[in-house]
Amino acid sequence: MDFFEEILNSARKGKFVTSYCQQCNKYIWPPKDSCNLCYSTAVIKDVPSNGVLLSKSISYISGKEGYFGLGEFTGIRIIGTIERSMKIGDRIVICRIREKNRKIDLKFCVDM
Ligand SMILES: [Zn+2]
Repeated sequence: MDFFEEILNSARKGKFVTSYCQQCNKYIWPPKDSCNLCYSTAVIKDVPSNGVLLSKSISYISGKEGYFGLGEFTGIRIIGTIERSMKIGDRIVICRIREKNRKIDLKFCVDM
């Protein structure tokens, strides 16, 4: 199975995984089958769901209205939907993951 397919399949099951380089001990996002630093073959690994909200913005694009945030999780930065009340610097968790039009769709919630 293709690397990206495996990541999408996990998302369908509600689990967020991405590529990981065992040489550099780094997660790779967007996922790739090899490390962009040392070119080793990457493996698939679960991403810890605890992170920090780095920035937030609002979208007025039709069909995509809402608040979006950039979260950092174990060194990787990903965009997800957020609640209006969330603030930059908040501790967050990935509270929902799904596959939408062959893309990973994440929702972040405040980590209680
Ligand atoms: Zn590497």
